[in-house]
Amino acid sequence: MALRSSFPSRADSNAAGGPAAEPVPVTVIGAGVAGAWQALLFAKAGHAVTLHERGDASLLQSTGYHAGGMLAPWCEGEDSEPVITRLGARSLDLWRRELPDTPFHGSLVVAHPRDRADFDRLARLTEGFERIDAAGIAELEPALDGRFREGLFFAGEGHVEPRRVLPALHARLEAAGATIRYNSDLSPHDAEGLVIDCRGLAARDTVPDLRGVKGEMAIIETHEVALTRPVRLVHPRWPIYIIPRGDGRFMIGATAIESEDRGVTLRSALELLSAAYAVHPAFGEARILELGANLRPALPDNLPRIAISADRRTISVNGLYRHGFLLAPALAELTVNYVTRGAIDNEVMQCG
Ligand SMILES: Cc1cc2nc3c(=O)[nH]c(=O)nc-3n(C[C@H](O)[C@H](O)[C@H](O)COP(=O)(O)OP(=O)(O)OC[C@H]3O[C@@H](n4cnc5c(N)ncnc54)[C@H](O)[C@@H]3O)c2cc1C
Repeated sequence: MALRSSFPSRADSNAAGGPAAEPVPVTVIGAGVAGAWQALLFAKAGHAVTLHERGDASLLQSTGYHAGGMLAPWCEGEDSEPVITRLGARSLDLWRRELPDTPFHGSLVVAHPRDRADFDRLARLTEGFERIDAAGIAELEPALDGRFREGLFFAGEGHVEPRRVLPALHARLEAAGATIRYNSDLSPHDAEGLVIDCRGLAARDTVPDLRGVKGEMAIIETHEVALTRPVRLVHPRWPIYIIPRGDGRFMIGATAIESEDRGVTLRSALELLSAAYAVHPAFGEARILELGANLRPALPDNLPRIAISADRRTISVNGLYRHGFLLAPALAELTVNYVTRGAIDNEVMQCG
């Protein structure tokens, strides 16, 4: 369906009768990864952007504070719809363009021989990898020499450290001319201009089918193991990943539990830490720096949604579930293209 956008604040139309390219003032609510990317790309498109965040600059209240930050469109193909891979692959280009220091060292998937069936299943369901043997694993990650016979290497994937990349994105969007207001709790009804609602789970008043999916994680520290890229362990009960954070720190994640409790259970902590130990016994001597949990904002189909209100005044970007860092750039590009050119992506956009 070829829909056209039209915003009340826009003065006139272009010759084709479509939306004018004239910039409108944009209010973005929520400075998590979705809102930060929206604000950045609208500012770069020439709009006057104000980004409101109810918390402070530490972004402790955002889901992303606890996220892994993996940019893994092909690995995620194992149990995601193709649209996640399509938008995720586009996002990688945007991360490279806007933050050229983003590490793209790939992702490594390994399994113990007893979990061979699950490993083969993942290989069947995904693409964009190279099968490597024990020598190939040791070449990529010397710390894993002799620990696994076979792996899948997704060379095109990357990862970011959310607690560093969100401030970097905020600095970038301020440099692009946007204004950020921290400690500003705003309702979409009270906002001015075109409103981009990126409140995550807090948007339930207008997106009632949102739910929270709990993700638990741990941060540990050891100098006995060094990794260059995220390592995923295929396991029938504990499919976990370990992400190097630098300075001997590693993030171990993550559970996915249909619960809105924000605590870390003893069972989950045991599973996360045991799985890390199964990747390398030296993790057994690591110090536990943090155990944490947060709720991923998810819609019933676990897919992202850009919902445009009937009066075209508010655009809600939500349901980023476990792919916020992977998808936020591409979703922002789609929103800007809709506002400036009336372009519609039927897989993720809903109008009216
Ligand atoms: C353990 C874990 C691991 C994860 N790992 C990954 C991963 O490896 N890769 C990946 O891509 N994704 C990952 N995710 C998912 C990712 O974190 C989420 O998809 C993403 O954070 C959602 O972003 P968001 O901006 O929509 O919501 P949020 O991050 O929740 O941001 C919403 C923001 O809006 C603010 N806000 C709310 N209401 C208001 C208001 N009224 N006024 C002003 N501000 C308001 C909040 O304070 C918050 O800062 C993981 C999540 C978890 C929990």
